Amino acid sequence: MRKLFCLFLFFITALVQAQKPEKLSSSEIYSEIEKLNFLGSVLYVAAHPDDENTKLISYFSNELDARTAYLSLTRGDGGQNLIGPQLRELLGVIRTQELLAARKIDGGEQFFTRANDFGYSKTPEETLNIWNEEEVLKDVVRTIRSFKPDIIINRFDANSAGETHGHHTSSAILSSRAFDLAGKKSAYPMQAEKLRTWQPKKLFFNTSPWFYDSQEAFDAADKSHFLTFDTGVYFPLKGMSNTEIASLSRSQHQSQGFGSTGTRGSAAEYIELLKGEHPKNNKDIFHGINTTWTRVPGGKEIGEILAGVEKNFDFENPAASVPDLVKAYRLIQNLEDQHWREIKSEQIKTIIAASLGLYLEAVAGSSLATPGEEIKLNLEAINRSDIPAELVSIKLSPTGREIPANLSLTNNTPSAEEVNFTIPENINFTSPYWLNEEGSLGMYKVENKDLTGLPETPQELKVEFMVRINDEHIPFERDITYKFNDPVAGETYRPFEVVPAVSVTVGTEVMVFANGAPGKIPVTVKAMKNNISGILEPGKISGWKISPENHIFNTLRKGEELTFTFEVHPPAVQDKVTFNPVAVVNETEYSKTVLQMDYPHIPLQTLVLPNKTQLVKLDIQKRGNLIGYIPGAGDVVPQALEQIGYSVDMVDPAYISASSLAKYDAVVVGIRAYNTVEELRHRQAALFEFVEQGGNLILQYNTSRGLVTEELAPYKLQLSRDRVTDENAEVSFLAPNHPILNTPNKITSKDFERWVQERGLYFPDRWGKEFTPILAMNDKGETSKKGSLLVAPYGKGNFIYTGLSFFREFPAGVPGAFRLFANMISLGKNKPAPSKDNHNSN
Ligand SMILES: [Zn+2]
Repeated sequence: MRKLFCLFLFFITALVQAQKPEKLSSSEIYSEIEKLNFLGSVLYVAAHPDDENTKLISYFSNELDARTAYLSLTRGDGGQNLIGPQLRELLGVIRTQELLAARKIDGGEQFFTRANDFGYSKTPEETLNIWNEEEVLKDVVRTIRSFKPDIIINRFDANSAGETHGHHTSSAILSSRAFDLAGKKSAYPMQAEKLRTWQPKKLFFNTSPWFYDSQEAFDAADKSHFLTFDTGVYFPLKGMSNTEIASLSRSQHQSQGFGSTGTRGSAAEYIELLKGEHPKNNKDIFHGINTTWTRVPGGKEIGEILAGVEKNFDFENPAASVPDLVKAYRLIQNLEDQHWREIKSEQIKTIIAASLGLYLEAVAGSSLATPGEEIKLNLEAINRSDIPAELVSIKLSPTGREIPANLSLTNNTPSAEEVNFTIPENINFTSPYWLNEEGSLGMYKVENKDLTGLPETPQELKVEFMVRINDEHIPFERDITYKFNDPVAGETYRPFEVVPAVSVTVGTEVMVFANGAPGKIPVTVKAMKNNISGILEPGKISGWKISPENHIFNTLRKGEELTFTFEVHPPAVQDKVTFNPVAVVNETEYSKTVLQMDYPHIPLQTLVLPNKTQLVKLDIQKRGNLIGYIPGAGDVVPQALEQIGYSVDMVDPAYISASSLAKYDAVVVGIRAYNTVEELRHRQAALFEFVEQGGNLILQYNTSRGLVTEELAPYKLQLSRDRVTDENAEVSFLAPNHPILNTPNKITSKDFERWVQERGLYFPDRWGKEFTPILAMNDKGETSKKGSLLVAPYGKGNFIYTGLSFFREFPAGVPGAFRLFANMISLGKNKPAPSKDNHNSN
């Protein structure tokens, strides 16, 4: 047995500090004052990170000064990752942070629903079936009721079913329905009572020539219901055009490779009115909506004061505005409208602090701590203006402990204090809240409804600095953070995280037992605080023998880890079970793993996740032994083949020749190799010669566009966009007697049970008569697709093309996928492979 699919602790040095506190310049303060004086809001709705039109988001936020938010129904978990190995939920965490990084640049806010991006979907019917339609709709209504937008803009067209991703169309359908429901008390009444109902005024669709057959068709379209904006406006305060900001924002989607170069000059954007009163003026999106302070009862006087602040703003001395800002702050506290009171209080506090050069910070002595632990906090407070201010007290949340300070903050005089802070025993871990519980394919599970929709888990540990300015007590809240000096990067900030006292990590996500031989599984125990002693138990699994009964660990220091090995004896029958060892420390059980992901463009991410290792006992025979693997865009197929006892060499495409490959029983080409490996263009002749002389060549899926060569096969073979997304779609056998379905493993319908995510993608739809199509399958309502597995003899060997998603099935330990792949490799190899000792664990 070999261990594989290693859980990664992925680190690269973060030179850009995504976590640094914001320090506003005069021009930035002025922009914030403009936003303080605008009381309108826009919500943009789509399905994925990257769907959003950053030109429009930045335009509404920076040109119109509106509160602007993007509601992405999913976190983009189902896509590819161009910057690292993380996929699925972990990729969703990265993309969440990329959206937050984008919003930091374009000035928007960010929300989500509990919908999981489960992968490609052809129709909204399928999407809404896999998502819980009612629950996702409820989440969209929740976002509308809490953000309270005047305007909603859909990225996609609700009537485009079949023309784009089913998630896209669904986002427009749900947004439109939520627009009608959010204002009704009868819709989700408990939610309505808590958040109050809210009726947005207008619903638009962000149309563009892309949604028409051609530019000409778009030009000719009736635009009487369109509004047009020039999103190429220039902002002297920022020294950038709106389109340049939009590109910087878009370039945060690094995991998708969406780097974007800024453009300058006019750039028209169109929105089409779907619901609500038609604006008389086709440029004024807020026509008919009061966006001044007078929209709030009691706001008139505040508006007058703040109009003066904006008019008389002194860029050399922003502190001159503070007396009037404090006057306005006091009036804002008296507003009865809770929604605007909270929003405007936060905005004006940011402006007051920045105008004073008031810097407040709470830094912990380490980046990680555990419940019940006492930490040291370094508090810093400094006023860099002539306006008198006093630090009255410091309050620690959530304990509520108050420490009197009564410290006068005179101009540019630093003050610092160290306090001890005991983290409450019952505090939640800071890990992403939507990953705390196991969800379904289409939905995340969130126990705490108050968190639903939030982009990330809010920090519960906070410090409130109560500062008196002009006789007004103003509380400034700061999250506890962590910083250190990096010799290369200098001052470096990290999020402060609460994690369990012990992390338990299983060294493999899937372990396959291809014969009766035992295997060894490494399990690592890591102390997240000092002086950890206890025992590690493997847990009992019916039919499986795991030894020893436990391992003992003693007085581990914080950060110290020990790796133990369990020997596993599989049962005689084919089986698939979950292995979840537990560390017991002071009668408390720990079974979760603490994992970190560090990328320069986002804050360091610390996750607390359940172990989900699968143990798979396979009934599998194989022929042939040595495999050459030509890597493509990246997959774990080579490690999976090693798990069932093959020896796998990675083959550098530059060195491919028929003679260098002659030693291999089969050559397997990684996913999308013909989309990503330019060199293969020149190596097809050598690969075909290898087949001619008796080898098996197996090509996995490639996308139909952007191939480095049209000659994928020695015969005619044309890829299409045919895919079968239903992982349970029925599979029928077109060539039931073909050896690939019979030797050495008899493949039956049972082998197509419990597949994950999909059957396969980009199947060929045309092929030469030399090919034998082996399988037929299709999604509901579609014609039968016969190109998922094609075999053709060539010379003494065999050429095989398959769009089946082995790269997804192997990491999930799907037995049938292993058995079918073994048959592909074994094709034409008459002798069984020499028996080989497979005990080479680790
Ligand atoms: Zn999308």
